[in-house]
Amino acid sequence: MSINQKTCLANFERLIDSASKSHVFVWIDMESSEHTDETIELYYALFSRYERLGIAIQANLKRSHEDIQDLVRHGGKIRIVKGAYRENSKIAFKTRKEVDENYLNIMKTLFKDANEFGIATHDSKLINHAVELSKKYPKKFEFQLLKGIRDELKPDLVKQGFIISDYIPYGTNWLPYSIRRLRERKRNILLLGSSFIQSHKV
Ligand SMILES: Cc1cc2nc3c(=O)[nH]c(=O)nc-3n(C[C@H](O)[C@H](O)[C@H](O)COP(=O)(O)OP(=O)(O)OC[C@H]3O[C@@H](n4cnc5c(N)ncnc54)[C@H](O)[C@@H]3O)c2cc1C
Repeated sequence: MSINQKTCLANFERLIDSASKSHVFVWIDMESSEHTDETIELYYALFSRYERLGIAIQANLKRSHEDIQDLVRHGGKIRIVKGAYRENSKIAFKTRKEVDENYLNIMKTLFKDANEFGIATHDSKLINHAVELSKKYPKKFEFQLLKGIRDELKPDLVKQGFIISDYIPYGTNWLPYSIRRLRERKRNILLLGSSFIQSHKV
């Protein structure tokens, strides 16, 4: 996408062709706000051709609730995340309380109006809210967490009958991905260190 929209679309079409042959669900990550519009455009362009496609939307952006309502109206599949990028206060909620409130409101919209979605968070408070909402609105959804984070929670949710997806960084670009995760939380250096040692034991 940083090269241009056309190249991005062409590359993505190759991924979608391959995914459709293998019946694989594909999620589009959301980068910083300068790419929000074009990522949503890309999603709409591809979703009309391949339905097993979802898009991440960030609760820290003020525009997101509206984006989600539009996407849901078009049958879009959404992964709701808090948002990993530092954004300007003109367009973004800055306090944890505001972001969590917006996350909860968006989650309510998803449970009421959407059919298939992902709740991507490690926040127990929000996970508990989702568990409660799912009793009132039985919908097709899954909890999505990063591999190695809040692992103690995952078997518990599975026992309660929920679907959990573990998000695994894969491929040659593991370093920038891991640096982003480190920026989020310094304690991840231990996680990164131990997985690095384990990968060199094999
Ligand atoms: C499956 C998945 C996909 C994502 N895709 C995107 C995306 O496309 N675009 C985007 O901007 N962001 C994405 N994110 C990141 C997201 O926006 C948040 O930055 C990240 O998930 C941390 O927020 P939280 O909801 O876990 O809540 P927080 O309030 O940050 O954390 C709640 C609790 O979870 C634990 N925790 C949270 N994060 C970590 C961590 N990294 N290491 C250790 N413990 C942790 C801690 O106990 C913390 O107190 C994704 C996250 C997940 C899980």
